[in-house]
Amino acid sequence: YARYNSNSAGIRERTLIAVKPDGVQRRLIGQIIQRFEIRGFQLVGLKMLQVSDELLSQHYMSLCKKSFYPSLLHYMTSGPVVAMVWEGNNVVRSSRMLVGNTNPAEAPPGTIRGDFCIHISRNVIHASDSIEMAQKEIALWFQSSELIEWECCDHGNFYQL
Ligand code: GDP
Ligand code: MG
Repeated sequence: YARYNSNSAGIRERTLIAVKPDGVQRRLIGQIIQRFEIRGFQLVGLKMLQVSDELLSQHYMSLCKKSFYPSLLHYMTSGPVVAMVWEGNNVVRSSRMLVGNTNPAEAPPGTIRGDFCIHISRNVIHASDSIEMAQKEIALWFQSSELIEWECCDHGNFYQL
């Protein structure tokens, strides 16, 4: 990516996004992907999977003492999940804003949770909450061979190169 200027490192920021089982069941995959595409972010990894308890216990390690943890595992393994890696400048923070508050009741209309769900126990989407967590989560969910480095032909419409 030598042709990008000194901002190119920021352009390559990545985050893990996952459409949770309720989002898949409710046929929201397309609309959720569209929110990230239309904003200008670039898709660099995508797969559908039945998540294992083992992966989830690592992914939600910080929540293992919470009272809702068993029901969270049950929810997240109740059906397939669509996992994605999105790339772009400030993508971690921007994704959290696109997704909205963990509790959909606090998520404004226009956000994914504010538009598509009601209750914290069925909040349709995951998004990494920091650059460090994004790196850990991407390494946990994806093999590096599953991530595609590619150049979008219209980068100039989104960035000053
Ligand atoms: P997120 O980063 O916005 O997804 O929120 P957290 O990292 O705090 O929690 C992870 C996930 O656990 C949330 O997205 C919810 O699916 C679930 N969760 C969090 N808090 C609660 C809760 O109080 N009750 C239930 N049932 N689920 C929760
Ligand atoms: Mg979180």
